[in-house]
Amino acid sequence: MSPLLEVTELTKTFGGVHAVDGCSLAVEAGTVTALIGPNGSGKTTLFNLITGYLRSDSGRVRFNGRDVTGLDAGALYRHGLSRTFQQARVFPQLSVAENMVVAGGYGWRQLLGSRRVSRSDRARADELLEEFRLSHVADLLAAELSYGQRKLLEFAAVLMSEPTLVLLDEPTAGVNPVMIETMERHIRARHAAGITFLVVEHDMTFVMRLCDPVIVLDQGRTIASGTPAQVQSDALVLDAYLGS
Ligand code: ADP
Ligand code: MG
Repeated sequence: MSPLLEVTELTKTFGGVHAVDGCSLAVEAGTVTALIGPNGSGKTTLFNLITGYLRSDSGRVRFNGRDVTGLDAGALYRHGLSRTFQQARVFPQLSVAENMVVAGGYGWRQLLGSRRVSRSDRARADELLEEFRLSHVADLLAAELSYGQRKLLEFAAVLMSEPTLVLLDEPTAGVNPVMIETMERHIRARHAAGITFLVVEHDMTFVMRLCDPVIVLDQGRTIASGTPAQVQSDALVLDAYLGS
């Protein structure tokens, strides 16, 4: 079977900077795959290319059996590919519940009440808020949430589209240890329920206990991939991290 996501020779240059430089990788369905690499190795740029927030200079992306190269973020989202951001992106001036509804694909007009949000989407939003223990803050503005809660809200909102593949960009960055455990629990639960994950993460203990396989990026290209144990003992990986 072909992988759920397949990136082939993807390239993106900013001015003279080769942010992503002929990068190829594959994500198998049913995995929680990690994408690690030193700062500036191109992880976020690669996420932006895969999810249609940036256009590549060259290379292909295949998802779920079709070539999705060049599709925009909205189209990919509707095909079941969605992501979170390194700096959680929620609408600060909308309530938590409204953020869920917007993520479900409703426009501003529906929000303002001229077209009703369907009962099933409303129910789905309520269920997700319950699951993420955000029901008690459903009517607060997203701006009033803690940073960790905003990351949870962003994760919950992404699930409104019933995605097949979710890309998480540093889900634990800047959140407290309890929230890290909470995040891990939600990833595990959703993985058990059938979602495939590609996770960029700096917390190596988190990566090593949650993810398999691990793909390592350096200078915009894949330098290793394998089980956590294989990658940890790979000389190229050690060189990339130790800068030797
Ligand atoms: P990572 O997420 O692995 O830390 P990034 O993808 O953010 O890496 O960055 C990869 C490289 O591309 C870095 O050298 C960064 O400075 C550069 N870069 C990223 N985005 C831009 C941009 N919009 N304009 C110019 N350079 C960028
Ligand atoms: Mg990054």
